[in-house]
Amino acid sequence: MSHSIAVIGAGAIGAGTAWWLSRSGHQVELIDPELAQDPSRHSSSPLTGTSASLGILMGHVFRRSSGRAWRLRRRSMELWPLWVEELSCPDEPLLLQTPLVQLATTDEEAALQRKLVEERSHLGLSFITADRLADEHPDWPKSSHGGLQSNHDGRLDPLILQRSLRRQLHRLSVPMQTAAVETLHRDGNQWQLQLSDGSRSYADTVVVCSGLASQTLLAPLGHARAMDPVLGQVLQLRLDNPDALTPHWPAVLMSHGVNLIRHGSDQLLLGATLEPGEQPLEAATLTMRALNGHAPTWLEQAEVIGHWHGLRARPSGRPAPLLEKLEPGLILASGHYRNGVLLTPATAEWVSEEINEETSKA
Ligand SMILES: Cc1cc2nc3c(=O)[nH]c(=O)nc-3n(C[C@H](O)[C@H](O)[C@H](O)COP(=O)(O)OP(=O)(O)OC[C@H]3O[C@@H](n4cnc5c(N)ncnc54)[C@H](O)[C@@H]3O)c2cc1C
Repeated sequence: MSHSIAVIGAGAIGAGTAWWLSRSGHQVELIDPELAQDPSRHSSSPLTGTSASLGILMGHVFRRSSGRAWRLRRRSMELWPLWVEELSCPDEPLLLQTPLVQLATTDEEAALQRKLVEERSHLGLSFITADRLADEHPDWPKSSHGGLQSNHDGRLDPLILQRSLRRQLHRLSVPMQTAAVETLHRDGNQWQLQLSDGSRSYADTVVVCSGLASQTLLAPLGHARAMDPVLGQVLQLRLDNPDALTPHWPAVLMSHGVNLIRHGSDQLLLGATLEPGEQPLEAATLTMRALNGHAPTWLEQAEVIGHWHGLRARPSGRPAPLLEKLEPGLILASGHYRNGVLLTPATAEWVSEEINEETSKA
């Protein structure tokens, strides 16, 4: 009999993992009430982490050069081109948009950027001097310290990513349950999942990818994994003067702690805040809107045409993300905090390796 896997949660992590497992021949089921509707940003309540996200892939500009976080980033950046190639379709291309530019706000930061460039020029990192910024990019927010350009970091659209994953899951005939998992318990050699629509599901292995809600499912099983919500807001702006967005705009421009993302020909996305708790703070929106007091006039004059927020799951007392085999047949892949979209491919690969190891022993 073949080994069955239930993946709980269909954000980037869960849907990405379900696709990767199914693509490798596993028998997978994906469960999430959000599967009942198209991923969108039309909601006044917090969005799922993935739908709220900007989809920035900051792999190579990460400061550390060792440890698990660096390995996961490197691996994800290696896998993303393959993922994009396989997930993209002509009707709705999934694009890896590059480059990413981080403007320095102090001389110290510029010095750290130059050092990183020395170590990682082979990964596509280069330094743009303040003079070059002033000459070639007068339309960008000002930096008199220069900035770091990373040619292979960038972003992808998280809504298109989710739709692409669902399309591929559909093609692979992966069952998608539009209900929430209420409880999880062992039933002989299998897991029994009680769903909010009154039905039950059974699986040999369960992969928990339900963000903040993961802790509620796991605590009754003796696996306390506390996570705190960290809220993020994003503004969608329409520019008075679309000429401000020259074709030389990078896919991601980071200035004074705020990400500016070109969106179509005359719009920008501005994000994302880091706020404790589950309610957005107006002060945080205003600070971001003003680029921490450094917004150029054309940005100040832009009209706000969209505004949303979502919650990140930050593990408390443990490093993000939580990638753990908790017991035989029970895997946790959540708590990615700020980098869940970036780390989706490496996470899916890790889950797949864990399952392969377990099934090869059986
Ligand atoms: C404003 C903002 C901007 C961000 N920008 C970036 C960025 O640029 N780059 C980046 O890499 N990361 C970014 N992040 C972080 C990133 O969004 C998260 O790390 C990532 O989305 C986590 O994905 P996930 O699949 O674990 O969680 P989610 O996307 O939150 O998905 C969890 C899913 O689990 C489902 N679920 C919950 N409970 C149950 C249950 N009981 N049964 C079934 N399903 C359940 C939910 O409905 C949900 O669909 C950002 C986050 C925010 C809030």
